[in-house]
Amino acid sequence: MTTRSWPRVIVHADMDAFYAAVEQLDDPKLRGKPVLVGPPGQRGVVLTASYEARPARVGSAMPMAIARRRCPEAIVVPPRFDRYQEVSRIVMRTFADFSPEVEPISLDEAFLDMTGAEGIFGTPEAIGSKLKAAVQEATGGLTVSVGISGTKYVAKVASGHVKPDGLTIVPPALAKDWLAPQPVAVLWGAGPKTQARLAALGLETVGDIAALDPTGLEAKLGRTGRHFFELSQARDPRPVESARRAKSMSSERTLAADLSSVNELRPYVRQAADVVARRLRDKSKAASGVRIKLKTHDFRILTRQRQLAEATSASEIVNATAQSLLREIDDPGPFRLIGVAVFGIQSSGAAGQLELLAARSEGGRLDAVLDALHHRFGPRAVQRASDLLSRTVFREDVNLDYLENDASPDEDA
Ligand SMILES: [Mg+2]
Repeated sequence: MTTRSWPRVIVHADMDAFYAAVEQLDDPKLRGKPVLVGPPGQRGVVLTASYEARPARVGSAMPMAIARRRCPEAIVVPPRFDRYQEVSRIVMRTFADFSPEVEPISLDEAFLDMTGAEGIFGTPEAIGSKLKAAVQEATGGLTVSVGISGTKYVAKVASGHVKPDGLTIVPPALAKDWLAPQPVAVLWGAGPKTQARLAALGLETVGDIAALDPTGLEAKLGRTGRHFFELSQARDPRPVESARRAKSMSSERTLAADLSSVNELRPYVRQAADVVARRLRDKSKAASGVRIKLKTHDFRILTRQRQLAEATSASEIVNATAQSLLREIDDPGPFRLIGVAVFGIQSSGAAGQLELLAARSEGGRLDAVLDALHHRFGPRAVQRASDLLSRTVFREDVNLDYLENDASPDEDA
């Protein structure tokens, strides 16, 4: 595995028929039998059906009365949420042994960012096998299905591709082709109503959408159309939002004119880095990582991020890191939006030696002077000379980045 072919390694891990599997684990009499977890009477819905019940076309959210009719031999077990929570903690702890960046989605499902972990765990295949074995061992026998790709979206579709006990690896370069034959139902945000709308337009597979002109799709479906087009291209810039990383601050600017060269972008990165670093200092916080985000004129979103050796709130360090991340962007642009974010936010008391050195350095003293002037006279009172040299003016903060909203744009499921 090279970092070139796997710019990010994103894992989606989803426990198989979790509640039912826990019941079968705890009660050997239930093993190998169709089990429905849910309220014991005819009312309410099935929470989870064991795999033995699924050939009878019984599944989650189905009214219990229908499920019982379809699968009369099923054993109905009332849910024990305390126990599921207990097992969930074991599962999430196991995930945490693999990556500091774990984003739990529910009791039995999480994303892991394993980027850069190949030195410890090996190829994506090896990561997946080790993770599955570790979960099985830690829980005493539960299985998990795992999908691994370069984006959250494709990893999630991949983990559902083979179940139970699946392991599906989709190398990022093949992701678009891998998605193409899948039904539109795998598009994130496409519930039954949207699927029907897509079917009416003659769009049945993800590949049908990928082949369209995105502007036409946008005209028909609005923002959802653009969103589906991005997914059909296997593009999904959302980072794995671990509790640690979720604490982030960002400053984004829509540029008044599309800019192409990295040199033209430098002053904007500088300003955004200043803004977030100042916000950190205002709140007596420090951050352990820096991320930049660029949006191209055709709405592609590029991100690069780096973990710092030590948490910082120094403008110089945030800016230097962001500028070096900017150099890693090899896309020709032009770009319409630029942002700098810091993540891994902690109280600055936790910041280490580097932070103290920065505070004592010339840069640190300059930060303090600029902060004081900023507070006294407002944001336009003091500007760095490099900013004054750039002629393009800022618009107000506009965040067009709907792709990073976790809410589905058209949730009708
Ligand atoms: Mg599950």
